[in-house]
Formats: sequence, C-alpha cells, structure tokens
Amino acid sequence: MKIDILTLFPDSFSYLDSSIIARAKTKGLLEVNITNIRDFSSDKHKKCDDYPFGGGAGMLMMIQPLYDAIKSVKKRNSTLIFPSPRGKVFDHSDAKILAKEKHLVFICGHYEGVDERLFELFDIKQFSIGDYVLTGGELPSMVMIDSIARQVKGVISEDSLSEESFSSGALEYPQYTRPAVFKKKAVPQVLLSGNHQEIARWRKEMSKKITETNRPDLLKK
Ligand code: SAM
Repeated sequence: MKIDILTLFPDSFSYLDSSIIARAKTKGLLEVNITNIRDFSSDKHKKCDDYPFGGGAGMLMMIQPLYDAIKSVKKRNSTLIFPSPRGKVFDHSDAKILAKEKHLVFICGHYEGVDERLFELFDIKQFSIGDYVLTGGELPSMVMIDSIARQVKGVISEDSLSEESFSSGALEYPQYTRPAVFKKKAVPQVLLSGNHQEIARWRKEMSKKITETNRPDLLKK
C-alpha cells in the first residue's frame, strides 16, 4: 500500500519511522511519502493561510496550495482522506476497509481548518478520531495510518489480529507475563494450568465482562 501525507508540518511524522510501521516499510508492504504543502504555494512568501471571508477567529488554509499539492500525488485509484471533527468517527471497520486500498492520501488541516471548496473540487472522505478538537490533522492522520497499516496483509500476524480488541466485536481479555507473582500479586491460576480449553473459556468470559462494563454499546452492535 502507498500512503501520501500532505502537511504543513512534515517534521511531525517521525513516529512513522519506528516500530511496526517502520518494519512494514522495510519489508516493502508500505510506502509512506510526506509532502510539504508549502512547497506548492504560488505566493512569493510561500504563504498558505489567510483570514476567513466574513470574519471570525483564526486563519484558514488557502485552497491553491492544497489543490496543487493534491494534484501532484493523486492518481485514478487514490482515496483522499481529510481528518476532521466533522467527519464520521473512525473505527476498526474503517481501518479494515481502507487497508484494502492501493493508495491513500491524507490531507492534514491546520489553524481553523481549510477553505470549504476543497470538498467541492475533490471527492474526500472525512474522518474524526473523537469528539474533541486537536491543533491539526497530523496526529489524527498518524492514528489512522497506524491502525490501517496493522490491517494490511503481512504487517501483523493473523493470530495477533484475530485476538485483538474489536476484531470479534468485543474488547480484549486481560494478559500477563513473567513473573507469575509480583508484589504479592499472582496471575490468574487458570493461565498457568496448561489447559487450553479452560484458558480460552476464561478469556472469552473476561472479554465479555470488560466489554459489558466499559463498552456495552459494542455488544448491542
Ligand atoms: N475549526 C475546526 C472546528 O471547529 O471543527 C477545528 C479546526 S482544528 C483546530 C485544525 C484541524 O485539526 C482540523 O481542520 C482537522 O484537520 C484536525 N482535527 C482537529 N480535531 C480533530 C479530530 N477530532 N479528528 C480529526 N481531525 C481533527
């Protein structure tokens, strides 16, 4: 999968050079390119923001640099994504669907947002990562890219994916590692029993309990 990120803050993306994403890039499963929108500004001072027509607080990203930056990376099979508090709340199923795409283009908003004509000129999916406002689309893009990349075939083992939260519609069961006792806290005996049927039953029960307590809405789906 190829991912293009369009941003005014390219330095924000060093997270994508670490851990699983970095390994996926090395294995050739993922290609990530970062483009500075400012490079496309036709203004002699490379200006990319301006005051909103009609007044109001803050600045808006101008349409011209955005338009040209998108045109420079967009292909016929590209899916354009704009992180926005106005978008559909991004979830596990969106990550799975987007992981099947060939080319994703993330367009990072900043300041008070972007000139609305962006959404008239291009077909763009808008996703929110939750009901709060962040400073820019950089963090939401990284959140979505990380979760999409995990669903790309070969990036994570199938076993890990099938046991994770949301994969079966519920949250994951509790897990423990060595030592078996720490500060007088012992891990549940069943996990040391070697009885795989009992372990599976316990995990299912715990997963249900945690989901009922923390996210009962998931069980209704
Ligand atoms: N004025 C906008 C509003 O009230 O909806 C908020 C603009 S915010 C300061 C700047 C940019 O951050 C947005 O254009 C969007 O790209 C990104 N952003 C902020 N919160 C987000 C969220 N919860 N999910 C996804 N993107 C978000």
